[in-house]
Amino acid sequence: MNPFYFSQGSLPLLVSIPHAGTELTPGVEAGLSEAARGLPDTDWHIPLLYDFVRDLGASVLIGRYSRFVVDLNRPPDNQPLYSTATTGLFPETLFDGTPTFAPGKTPDATERQGYIDQIWQPYHQQIQQELARLKAQHGYALLFDAHSIASEIPRLFEGRLPDINVGTNDGASCTPAMSAAIEAVCAAQTDYSWVINGRFKGGYITRAYGQPQQQIEAVQLELAQRNYMDETSPYAWQQARAAQLQKVLKAMIHAMLAQAKPH
Ligand SMILES: [Zn+2]
Repeated sequence: MNPFYFSQGSLPLLVSIPHAGTELTPGVEAGLSEAARGLPDTDWHIPLLYDFVRDLGASVLIGRYSRFVVDLNRPPDNQPLYSTATTGLFPETLFDGTPTFAPGKTPDATERQGYIDQIWQPYHQQIQQELARLKAQHGYALLFDAHSIASEIPRLFEGRLPDINVGTNDGASCTPAMSAAIEAVCAAQTDYSWVINGRFKGGYITRAYGQPQQQIEAVQLELAQRNYMDETSPYAWQQARAAQLQKVLKAMIHAMLAQAKPH
């Protein structure tokens, strides 16, 4: 099975969606703990929420496998992303600290190396290939890494997460002008709370590929799930809330495209 869905557009923009996948390998499926079986840490419905970008002309890359198989937004050497609590390349626990696997059912090292080779690597090769193509065609490329997470996860962050969490690796993954353009969109609305480089500063994808000096700018957007879906199982999509949120997402993508130029 191809480990991702990819569709190529005409704009200098690639939207990456690494955490919406729900496919499992037989080994992982057989080993998941009771609590993990409902795939609670999935970035639910993100492809649907960003469906509009395809019509705009963006390229879209969507991982098909669950992060419980291998996390596409972690470095292949599994260095921790944050000094505070976080989950790794092969999450041993759910966000809330519950074990991901039943006792003795964790996939072994050989199996996991296969997940890196057959799932992680192809996704990243596709990002690299597409960014290179966009740069060759347009002179520059934009990478938008799209995520969502439950609003309250005491183990990972205190209290209730802001609605909109923009990550630019503390300003290193895009130009100051791009950051300002995104901030202006956030500041122009009052429906949603927002923060730039708060708890979520951008994961491996944003950090690895955002190289403004190489004409590649990357931004991660971590959305609180409450604004477009139910945060409890079965995690239903909420159309009215989603339509409202999509207005801001569209404004943000348009602002980014207007700002991005070769520099
Ligand atoms: Zn995510």
